Amino acid sequence: MINYDYILVGGGASGLMMAYRMSKDSFFDNKKILIIDKEKKTANDRTWCFWEKNEGEWDDVLAKTWQKIQFKSEIHSLEGSILPYQYKMIRSEKFYHKIWNQLANKTNITFVEEAVLSIHQEENSARVVTSSATFHSKVVINSIVFSDESKKQTKFPVLQQHFVGFFIKTLEDSFNNESATFMDFKIPQKGNTRFMYILPYSENEALFEYTLFSENLLPISEYETEIENYLREKNITNFTITEKEKGSIPMTCYHFWKNNSENIIHIGTAGGWSKASTGFTFKNTTKKTSKLITHLKENKPLQLFHKIDKFWFYDLLMLDILHEKNYLGSTLFGELFKRTSLHNILKFLDEETSFLEDLKILLKMPPANFIRAIFKRIF
Ligand SMILES: Cc1cc2nc3c(=O)[nH]c(=O)nc-3n(C[C@H](O)[C@H](O)[C@H](O)COP(=O)(O)OP(=O)(O)OC[C@H]3O[C@@H](n4cnc5c(N)ncnc54)[C@H](O)[C@@H]3O)c2cc1C
Repeated sequence: MINYDYILVGGGASGLMMAYRMSKDSFFDNKKILIIDKEKKTANDRTWCFWEKNEGEWDDVLAKTWQKIQFKSEIHSLEGSILPYQYKMIRSEKFYHKIWNQLANKTNITFVEEAVLSIHQEENSARVVTSSATFHSKVVINSIVFSDESKKQTKFPVLQQHFVGFFIKTLEDSFNNESATFMDFKIPQKGNTRFMYILPYSENEALFEYTLFSENLLPISEYETEIENYLREKNITNFTITEKEKGSIPMTCYHFWKNNSENIIHIGTAGGWSKASTGFTFKNTTKKTSKLITHLKENKPLQLFHKIDKFWFYDLLMLDILHEKNYLGSTLFGELFKRTSLHNILKFLDEETSFLEDLKILLKMPPANFIRAIFKRIF
C-alpha cells in the first residue's frame, strides 16, 4: 500500500497552484505529497486572463497587461480605463514552468504521470486508482471531472462558454495594444449569446476568440469562418495564424461540491470554481487555493470548505435567463455596461461588492426577465 498525506489528482491550473502554495508553506515540509496527472503540463495549452488591482503574485509570468478595455454592443459601446484594476494575460507555459521550478526543490513532493481511473472515499482515508497502481491518502484534492452528473441533472441549467481562438500576426502594425476587447457583440447573434474577444498583445499580434455562452458546441469550421469574416470586415487581410486555441468551460450553478467528503475535496472546474455566469476561473482559483491551504492547516472538515453565497444566486438568475432566452446576452450585457461603471462591473464579477452595491447594479438591469427568473426559482 502506498500512503501519502496529500494527493493532488490532476496537475493543471488548480492542482499545480495548490502544490505551489504547499511548497511555499513550511507547514507542509514534513508532509508526503503526490501529484498525479496523465501528462506533465509544461507547454502552452491555454491563455488565462483575469483582472486584479495593481501588482499581483503572477506578475513575473504575465505575457501582457492592459489598463483599458472595450465593450461593444448595439445598445452601448465604450472604451475606458479600469485602473486601479489591470487586465492581465498569462500564457500557461510560463505558469507551469514557474511552478515546476519551485517544486523541483521539494523532495517531499513527487509526480506520477499516469491516468487516474477513479477515486474512492474509504473509512478514514481516500483511495486513488490509476492505470497501474493504487494510492492512499488522508486528503485527496481532486481537479478531474470524473462524471457527467452536472450535465445530466435538470435542476440547474448548464451552458458552456465555448470558443475557438486564432493568434494572428499582421505584416503591418494593425492593433491598438493598449486596450483589450472584453466583448464585441456587434456580430450576428444567430439566436445565441455570441461575441468576439480580442487580446492585442503587440501592435501586430492579437488573439481573436469567437465565443458563445450557449448550450451546444458548434462545428470547429463555424467558429473559424466567423473569425475570418470578422477579420475581413475589419480589413485585416494580410496576416498569418501563428497558433490556435479552443475551449469549453461549464457555466452552471450545479453543486459540484456536494461530492466533497471526509477525505476528498474537489477543486478547480471540478469543484465548481468556474464562475457560472462568465466561465472565469483563474482568479477564483488563486483566491480559493489560498483559503484551502488555511482550511487544511486548521484541519477543518473538507465538507465545510464550500459556502454558497448571494453571488451564486445572481449567477443562477442570469443562467436561467440565458438558458431560456439565449439570444438575450447582448442586451443584458449591453445594459450592464451602459448603466454601471467598468470599475463596479469588475468588482461585482469578482464577487467583492456589498449588498447595497449589488442592488445598485441589479436594479438597473431590465427588470422583467430578472423578476420572472426570481419568481420561477422561488415558486
Ligand atoms: C483554452 C482555455 C482558455 C481559458 N481561458 C481562461 C481565462 O482566460 N480566464 C479564466 O479565468 N479561465 C480560463 N479558462 C478556464 C480555466 O481557468 C481553465 O480551464 C483552468 O485550466 C481550469 O483549471 P483546473 O485545474 O480546473 O483544470 P485543468 O487545468 O484542466 O487541470 C486538470 C488536469 O487534470 C488532468 N487530467 C484530466 N483527466 C485525467 C485523468 N483521467 N487522469 C489523470 N489526469 C487527468 C489534465 O491533464 C489536467 O492537467 C480557460 C480554459 C481553457 C480550456
